[in-house]
Amino acid sequence: MAISERDRIFPHPLRSDLFWCLHCQRTYERNKWRTIRGLQRCPYLDCDGDAVLDSIDWADIRDSHPEYPMKPVWGEVYPFEFDRPIIHL
Ligand SMILES: [Zn+2]
Repeated sequence: MAISERDRIFPHPLRSDLFWCLHCQRTYERNKWRTIRGLQRCPYLDCDGDAVLDSIDWADIRDSHPEYPMKPVWGEVYPFEFDRPIIHL
């Protein structure tokens, strides 16, 4: 399985197999991305998020939203308020 550029640059321990996108606030598996002009981007076609810089481990989001499911629905938006501090970044 290919390792994402994000996991290569930020090799801290993986907490989950999912990322949450800062731009579209949706989730995707960490081995999924679109490559556009050599850069790894969010896999959602209508999103311009970066899969390296805009991806947050789903477990980190769930620290602030324990009501969110462990296995989120593809395409579902999970809002997040950034006035709360994020740990584990
Ligand atoms: Zn996105």
